[in-house]
Amino acid sequence: MSNIVSVANENGVAVVTIDNPPVNALSFHVRKPLYEALAALRDDPAAKAIVIACAGRTFVAGADITEFGKPLQQPELRAIIAFLETIAKPTVAAIHGTALGGGLELALGCHFRVADSGAKLGLPEVKLGLLPGGGGTVRLPRLVGAAKALSMIVSGVPVSAGEAKAAGFVDTVFEGDLIAQAIRFADEMVARGGPFVPVRDRNDRLAGTDLAAFGAQAAELARKARGLEAPLACAEAMRNAITLPFDLALAAERQLFLKLVSGDQSRAQRHLFFAEREAAKIPGKDLRKRQIARVGIIGAGTMGGGIAMALANGGLPVTLLETSEEALRRGLATIEKNYAVSVSRGSLSEDARQKRLGLFKGSTDYADLAGCDLIIEAVFEDMAVKKEVFGRLDAIARSGAILATNTSYLDVNEIAASTSRPQDVLGMHFFSPANVMKLLEIVRAEKTAPEVLATVADLARRIGKVAVVVGVCHGFVGNRMLAARGAENEALLLEGATPSQVDKAFTNFGWPMGPFQMGDLAGLDIGWRNRKARGQTAVIADTLCEQGHFGQKTGRGWYRYEAGSREPVADLEVEALIRTKAEELEIARREIGADEIIERTLYPLVNEGARILEEGIAARASDIDVVWVNGYGFPIGKGGPMFWAGLEGAGRIVERLEFWHGQTGRAIFEPAPALRRFAETGAWEVAGG
Ligand code: NAD
Repeated sequence: MSNIVSVANENGVAVVTIDNPPVNALSFHVRKPLYEALAALRDDPAAKAIVIACAGRTFVAGADITEFGKPLQQPELRAIIAFLETIAKPTVAAIHGTALGGGLELALGCHFRVADSGAKLGLPEVKLGLLPGGGGTVRLPRLVGAAKALSMIVSGVPVSAGEAKAAGFVDTVFEGDLIAQAIRFADEMVARGGPFVPVRDRNDRLAGTDLAAFGAQAAELARKARGLEAPLACAEAMRNAITLPFDLALAAERQLFLKLVSGDQSRAQRHLFFAEREAAKIPGKDLRKRQIARVGIIGAGTMGGGIAMALANGGLPVTLLETSEEALRRGLATIEKNYAVSVSRGSLSEDARQKRLGLFKGSTDYADLAGCDLIIEAVFEDMAVKKEVFGRLDAIARSGAILATNTSYLDVNEIAASTSRPQDVLGMHFFSPANVMKLLEIVRAEKTAPEVLATVADLARRIGKVAVVVGVCHGFVGNRMLAARGAENEALLLEGATPSQVDKAFTNFGWPMGPFQMGDLAGLDIGWRNRKARGQTAVIADTLCEQGHFGQKTGRGWYRYEAGSREPVADLEVEALIRTKAEELEIARREIGADEIIERTLYPLVNEGARILEEGIAARASDIDVVWVNGYGFPIGKGGPMFWAGLEGAGRIVERLEFWHGQTGRAIFEPAPALRRFAETGAWEVAGG
């Protein structure tokens, strides 16, 4: 018998235990002995029932995704499940931890499922651009009905054992010793007697499905999918489950799966899955971490308030410091309002709200930060103000406290140098709203100690953030590339495009919104202030700001907004302003197509990413993808800018950049050496190489 799958006979109940740490993934070296064990037990008179369970911290948490897209070694999971369904004696899956994807599909092959009360169950394949390819789309609806199964499979979000029982795909929830209770359950089923009907033959929850209602639900999901194929394929597979006989629906599910698994979108989403795990691997990860028990935050504005919430949501007590009682009251009131909204929407319980509010302390006295293990500064974006704050922190923070800045652009080395302890200083660049956005750029300054980085990376994980370590430069990875993406925005307008044409090219590409709509949402005054500080101009945007058009908050920006509406409406006056400025600058206007818009915005984005890689500001191309997908809405189906460059063809990108460089002479179009090398080798190099 293999070590990975073992069988024990407990008074006539065969307990098959899978032991494949860390998460009991169903790789080939599990599937083979599992199949053999089941084959031996099916007709073994000494076994009157079979329990499938797992050792370690979880039931099977999924297929082995490193095997996706490679030739499949038999027996595949589908064959094991099909075999399970030929077993006449009762089969019981005993689930603890997380039964996800192939793990849940294996359990659906059993007659019964019993679960530990802390277990979570789900089919998250859609998040990898796939559908459950082991019969999940055909078996789950037979137990829970089409509507519930569709929402579970298309969202990919796991449910608790209690919810699974209420939905109908878990038979009993147990507290305490799961295996002992699963054996007892199996015994009871034997005593109750058969025949035991496999899930494939249970049609009562599917019969009478309202196809029109199902169609409406699927159409709504398709609308939200914004160009992603997998959610649509999930819905199609489930429609088959309703309308076709079991075997035909199962075969159709397989075909849909094969199409997705070999497609670019799923490749992109799998790339991102690994990229996020890779980004978490930072040098010094195994160093001893400093303890973070209380966090101080300086500035209770947009970012300070959001960061404080992100930390409190992770259970950390927070001291918020402001310059005046008035500003502090305002900051705390916003936090209270945000939590109240969550309660009214049902996403937070009243109890949890009270607990979280209990974690906040307000202060206007730096001395109150003396006990903090980490202090994050989120004051105005002004070097002099930041230096003053860090000077004061240096005087009061305890020795060994970590001092972080949330600056968007400023030089973290210079900020660190304003203290006597630069080894304890780094950047923690959160994104707005900081309690919602997943991304955290951890900015490593020249002197930041490795264990400080490791501690903050650990903390990021604790509060559910996706962290990427980046180096110091103006705007770090994200905002620096954003500047490159937007460098041609005004030129495109002056040469003939309208804001809505540019935005449309972006949404067609898969972005949630285009740059002009984004500008109106964020507030045009922010960029204006930045430009003034850096002595830069933007003819059209500056004029709009001079007229008080700051975007949504003033009802006018690149677009018009009706009172109370966030819906952008094309503004003829803005278009007239663009034409006037073009005339003044003697720029001839012409038709500008979507291809040109992409070439002049997204190719420079990739090119700047290549420079960032060359300079070692990001350690890997995939880190850049993680930044762009989690912080800026780059479409996940395209895998981030650096992955997309491969799909688009790096050779083509280089060629078109050269063309635009020739046309405009602008440096953003000069192909970076790392991009040229990528075009030659097909692989991005690792930092500094
Ligand atoms: P904000 O104007 O909303 O808030 C700044 C707060 O800091 C104000 O409440 C102000 O009273 C307080 N403050 C100023 N000086 C202070 C001092 N010396 N001591 C204590 N409090 C002080 O600004 P924001 O948008 O929250 O930005 C804060 C920082 O975060 C900036 O560095 C900004 O670049 C960065 N950032 C902003 C965003 C964003 O989208 N808004 C995103 C990422 C990073």
